[in-house]
Amino acid sequence: MHSIVCGVDAKARDFAVRCAEAVRVAEQGQAALARIFAEAAAEGMQRVAELASPSSREAELPFRSLAAEMAAAANMSDRTVQRRMNDAAVLAESFPATFNAWEEGRIARGHVAVIMEHGLPLTDPDARAEFETEALLRAEGTTPGRLGASLARLAESLQPRPLAERHKEARASRGACVRDIGDGMAEFFSTQPAVLAHAMHDRITQQARAIKDADPTDGRTLDQIRADVVADMLLTTTPTVETGAGMSDGFGGLGAIRGIVNVTVPALALAGVTDEPAELVGRCPIDLATARVLAGYATGWDRVLADPITGCVLAVDRYTPSADMKRFLRARDQHCRFPGCRQPAHRCDRDHTLDYALGGETAVCNLACLCKRHHTLKGETAWTVRQLGGGVLEWTSPGGHVYIDKPPSAIHFVPNTDPPPF
Ligand SMILES: [Zn+2]
Repeated sequence: MHSIVCGVDAKARDFAVRCAEAVRVAEQGQAALARIFAEAAAEGMQRVAELASPSSREAELPFRSLAAEMAAAANMSDRTVQRRMNDAAVLAESFPATFNAWEEGRIARGHVAVIMEHGLPLTDPDARAEFETEALLRAEGTTPGRLGASLARLAESLQPRPLAERHKEARASRGACVRDIGDGMAEFFSTQPAVLAHAMHDRITQQARAIKDADPTDGRTLDQIRADVVADMLLTTTPTVETGAGMSDGFGGLGAIRGIVNVTVPALALAGVTDEPAELVGRCPIDLATARVLAGYATGWDRVLADPITGCVLAVDRYTPSADMKRFLRARDQHCRFPGCRQPAHRCDRDHTLDYALGGETAVCNLACLCKRHHTLKGETAWTVRQLGGGVLEWTSPGGHVYIDKPPSAIHFVPNTDPPPF
């Protein structure tokens, strides 16, 4: 029996404080290790510079030797050490403030990886510096997963070449390949336009869930079923695993399940007035040409009005109230609103923040998207949440910690009072 009758759960609070402190110390340790690797890489560079016209093989040897020296002392593989020397050198060279923030324990390795992933494609030094400053502001207080989606948009806004132009070139690199990974296993990859890749993943996820729901005794993990569905579909064209009469949710078998992606398009861009990119919600910017093709297939449109400064969603135009609210919440929340969770809104429940049974109203100021896991956590444990207005949620843990979760920015929308141009 834990004591939370009135006041805080002191044990939970203690675990949280110790956990945060241990993570901070561990991250500082990781950062200190990366600093050693960066310094060793710089030393390697220095030694290469002293060689007279080295071949590419000779130029690598000082690095290899230093990597092996450290690897042997630390019981690590020298290939791993050499790879991490390279990463650390890039971090020190391209994102010095990020390196400092990591060493101070303000951000974690995951944040560093996301900042490098989205910042490195920016080749202009000024654009990259601007990106880093803003990225660090956003990184503290959020998870690497959520930071990634936000930084993809930020990096896009700082790219000198328009997305449409870059996408046209990048499309040429689409393909499929296979790579052996030992133990009789191999990985199958396909490089696709982002819209198709996410729709493919969503479709096999829905099919895998349907299979699991139809047979609770199926011992496979969701990932294993995804893999089996992919193999079935690619080798036989249509899935061979039918769920049959057990399905009662209106799907006419797995073949009828369609992948869902949510795409937002600035209205003025769709009309050709501006060329802001569209966005695959919560994932990445996509080019307008792709968005316009999808727009042609869409059965309806939501017009989302957003504050141009904060990016807060202000209103969504549509018809019936309940469908209206669902669309509003999907646009405002984009994903589960538990701190750090990124489960997409179309897979979430719409939770009454103040329980309906306790008088909570069915209005967007009292509704938020929560995934199954976090809906249960809110309902069945001492976690509590309240709405502060503007879609901002204030979560209080059983240990008494308070976390503010703001809706993701939708700043790419252009507010206007004209009728929709479509
Ligand atoms: Zn969640």
